[in-house]
Amino acid sequence: MRKKIVAGNWKMNKTLQEGVALATELKNMLAAEKPNCEVIIGTPFIHLATVSELLKDSVIKVSAENCANKESGAYTGEVSAAMVKSTGAEYVILGHSERREYYNETPEILKDKVDLALANGLKVIFCIGESLAQREANEQEAVCKAELQGSVFHLSAEQWKNIVIAYEPIWAIGTGKTATAEQAEEIHAYIRKCVAEVYGAQAADDTTILYGGSCKASNAPELFGKPDIDGGLIGGASLKAPDFKGIIDAWK
Ligand code: PEP
Repeated sequence: MRKKIVAGNWKMNKTLQEGVALATELKNMLAAEKPNCEVIIGTPFIHLATVSELLKDSVIKVSAENCANKESGAYTGEVSAAMVKSTGAEYVILGHSERREYYNETPEILKDKVDLALANGLKVIFCIGESLAQREANEQEAVCKAELQGSVFHLSAEQWKNIVIAYEPIWAIGTGKTATAEQAEEIHAYIRKCVAEVYGAQAADDTTILYGGSCKASNAPELFGKPDIDGGLIGGASLKAPDFKGIIDAWK
């Protein structure tokens, strides 16, 4: 049975103190009312160790938002997968469109990052999705398939068990424009079909595929109600505990 997940992506928001306050508020909320899904928060590197320690007895898991494409050494300013793992984080988000667009992360770079993350015992939330121009040209399926082929479809069946896919149409990220539940379901089903072609029907059925892009408490129930949408990767609405909790509650 595949996991239902609601994962937050704080991006470059929150000082350490603000991040600790947010994680504490969420921890207390979820201790009082157990979630019906796995809950993950993706934080900037500097928060990872403190927040992982703070959440070690809670149901909330911690993710990094990136890791290096090199193992170790003279790469000033970079943070390796082994370093992320050593903080207590369990996941890393890779392939986010902001990393692809602003930091020129190519499919090859992402492939190396995925390999290093898995080799160091991290699970990967791998993001894919088309731009507005690509959606208007009806290229969303080709784009998603190419992104999977470029960075994750080389993995073994065993490695694949540690991959979560996040479909995030770029035109819906931080824009307030959400894909309709029907649009999202259509491409999620297609992504699952692509996974089945490579890893077989059972593995595809077991793969968690999250939707991301202006997901909030008001639209989460409809999105999560679709058979191939297994939860969400949440940006803006993960920055306030009640908003994030509202999305987690969509699984109730
Ligand atoms: C994201 O960047 O992963 C995201 C889904 O952002 P938002 O929810 O703000 O659209």
